[in-house]
Amino acid sequence: MTAQAIVVGSGPNGLAAAVTLARRGLDVTVLEAADSIGGGTRTSELTLPGLLHDDCSAFHPTGVASPFLRSLHLEEHGLRWLWPEIDLAHPLDGGGAGVMVRSLDRTVEGLGPDGPAWRRLFGPLTEGFDDLIGEVFRPIVHVPRHPLRLARFGLPALAPATVLARIWRTDEARALFGGVAAHMFHPLDRPLTSSVGLMLIAAGHAYGWPVAEGGSRAIADAMAALLHALGGKIETGVLVDSAAQLAGADVVMFDLAPSAIARIVGDRLPRRVERAYRRFRHGPGAFKVDLAVREGLPWTNPDCRRAGTVHLGGTLEETAAAERAISAGLMPARPFVLVGQQYLADPSRSVDDVHPIWAYGHVPHGFTGDATEVIIDQIERFAPGTRERIVARSVRPTTELARYNLNYVGGDISTGANDPIQVAMRPRFALDPYATGIPGMYLCSAATPPGAGVHGMSGHNAATSALRELERSGGA
Ligand SMILES: Cc1cc2nc3c(=O)[nH]c(=O)nc-3n(C[C@H](O)[C@H](O)[C@H](O)COP(=O)(O)OP(=O)(O)OC[C@H]3O[C@@H](n4cnc5c(N)ncnc54)[C@H](O)[C@@H]3O)c2cc1C
Repeated sequence: MTAQAIVVGSGPNGLAAAVTLARRGLDVTVLEAADSIGGGTRTSELTLPGLLHDDCSAFHPTGVASPFLRSLHLEEHGLRWLWPEIDLAHPLDGGGAGVMVRSLDRTVEGLGPDGPAWRRLFGPLTEGFDDLIGEVFRPIVHVPRHPLRLARFGLPALAPATVLARIWRTDEARALFGGVAAHMFHPLDRPLTSSVGLMLIAAGHAYGWPVAEGGSRAIADAMAALLHALGGKIETGVLVDSAAQLAGADVVMFDLAPSAIARIVGDRLPRRVERAYRRFRHGPGAFKVDLAVREGLPWTNPDCRRAGTVHLGGTLEETAAAERAISAGLMPARPFVLVGQQYLADPSRSVDDVHPIWAYGHVPHGFTGDATEVIIDQIERFAPGTRERIVARSVRPTTELARYNLNYVGGDISTGANDPIQVAMRPRFALDPYATGIPGMYLCSAATPPGAGVHGMSGHNAATSALRELERSGGA
């Protein structure tokens, strides 16, 4: 008899788990609480009709580089990656900016005296990037196939971002690295905060930071199309809140925050796992502001006008202070802000000369205040005259993000704090971090390795664990 699988949640990891199981012949049903699929990969007309804003994820260095997503050939199901001319710019007061483009040579040239140190660090990581991602996008406990590559990444990754940044002297290079490291939502003077910066920049030089044509929803749509072609089903508008809804399934994959699993199947979890899931720590929050802007943002720095992503945090020291504040529960006057100008790569998202601007600021966990104006102030600081060009706006505070997607507890869009312990071992200390301890039930969300991002690797790795168990028990 065909084994039955239920996947709870249709984020990229839920869909990745579903596709992995369906490819092996399981009968898969995905249950999604929201009315549309995709979790962190949705796109909506948030400000004006016709203007396409990514609700959550926007740029996809880990998507385009993901070994699993690449194996799916999603272009056959409608996914098309598009690259902006400049991948990332980090402007400073006074008009300068640190700039990263896909070409390592051009980036090195642009960084002037700091170029050679940038090349020494990122050259080897970029060159062996496919081997490196194969090592890093899996649980930490494994026998490495490329130990030297892993060591080349792992040693600098252990360092606090503020310490590693001492290899550069200019504010531009230091701020550029610090802004990418800040994707961790963790104080930059703590160990391991270089890891995400190293990974995202190396991915940028190897593959770029592309967007999906028509919006990030195209990624979920392509995965759903593949799942349907494999015979899988998706039901939306189904909130799973009791174990009874999972009856009859041989395999259950939870694309959820660990605390939600503890609520749904708590009494069946081994005590130590239940305790670990309830104690799982969530990080600071995001405060989302989408703008419709006539003629785009009037950046002082010309490179910012051609950049898909613009990081607004000022110098490395200023970004580090803002990240320290939010981790301590304090709202900084000048938060770290990420701005997305996806329309530069994908003009189909604009209407005439009105363009969708995607932005969010880093705020404390569960922040209940209004950060709209301080986020727009940060944009105005580097693009004076912004306010006069705004024709519509949509604001999604931390609390609303947590309602929009139950995985974003307290507005934590990474589904789990990136403190050193949870970076190394999430969601708990275990040889198989995906196993819940209940036979057949697995956790597959970004709360598991390799963590946040649209890459589907958590879902794929978790489903691979589930298939191994099914084989052992003779069910597949
Ligand atoms: C504002 C923002 C910006 C981001 N920017 C980027 C970016 O540029 N690049 C990038 O790679 N990543 C980015 N991310 C992170 C990325 O979106 C997430 O890491 C990724 O979506 C996690 O995927 P997932 O499948 O684990 O979970 P999710 O995408 O969170 O999906 C979980 C799904 O489960 C559903 N669900 C929850 N509870 C239940 C329940 N009880 N029953 C049924 N369904 C349920 C939810 O509705 C949701 O659809 C961003 C996220 C946000 C919010």
